[in-house]
Amino acid sequence: MTQAIDDECLILIIDDSVAAIRMLSGMLKDLGQIIFATSGEAGIQLARERKPHLILLDVEMPSMDGYEVCRLLKIDAETSGASVIFVTGSSSMESEVRALEAGAVDFITKPLNPPVVRARVRTHLKLQLHALATIQLANRDGLTGLYNRRYLDEILEKEFQRHLRQGLPLGLALIDIDHFKAYNDGYGHQEGDSCLRKVATALNTLTKRPGEIVARYGGEEFVVVLPYTSIQDAGKYGDWICEQIFYLNIEHNYSECAKIVTISVGINSVIPNNRNSVQQLVKGADEGLYLAKSAGRNRSVVYEKPGI
Ligand SMILES: [Mg+2]
Repeated sequence: MTQAIDDECLILIIDDSVAAIRMLSGMLKDLGQIIFATSGEAGIQLARERKPHLILLDVEMPSMDGYEVCRLLKIDAETSGASVIFVTGSSSMESEVRALEAGAVDFITKPLNPPVVRARVRTHLKLQLHALATIQLANRDGLTGLYNRRYLDEILEKEFQRHLRQGLPLGLALIDIDHFKAYNDGYGHQEGDSCLRKVATALNTLTKRPGEIVARYGGEEFVVVLPYTSIQDAGKYGDWICEQIFYLNIEHNYSECAKIVTISVGINSVIPNNRNSVQQLVKGADEGLYLAKSAGRNRSVVYEKPGI
């Protein structure tokens, strides 16, 4: 029982006593990577930067106590996902209740009993990893493995707000496989699914700038979120991705535009402000896609914003 639960497990110890940190690290070093901070403020900062799975939090600390640190960790979306275990010298029922009310998952009292500490940390690491896996699964499209529509809606809103704060352009590509119904009718649904997977994998593999997100929008439609991308650069991406899918050379004898699988792409980009919205960003890309299809498909069209 000495192997790590997961090599990726990250445990943050926040304690004003270096001796306590040393003792806890010694007990837990084989359960994951250990990082530490000696004050609440530094601990919160480290939690934001490193996103630990589990935080062992000392209650009794000068300046900011453990309850306050926990409260701040739990109201910040960047850090609220971590499981917090309080470590305290007080074993009163009242302090235990207070810890749980502050959002902690467990409570360990000093003097520390190594097997108990290890058992509790293991349990909460396992629960945490299981919860993360469930969330990841819930964000994915079952057929293609890409992000699903639900996750896309969530991430788009976040990205919009982030770009709003920074005053930078957010690009979006709406992608549709040309004559896909004819493909399904001609080759059957199993081949149709296989075609969706091939295109999805290609889109995902080819789209690799940091922060770019590829999602299945529904049916044979896909969305690529292009952070910090001007309308000109988003337009270049659209043309390029059309070419790349063309080069996959997937046979499609039922297509009216080529004998291989092609895509149509609608492109939009906006600098978020308080007058526009995610809906407008998507609607513009949808307009571009409509124009791409009307113009004969197998092409990318940039949405021309009137007056912007
Ligand atoms: Mg202390």
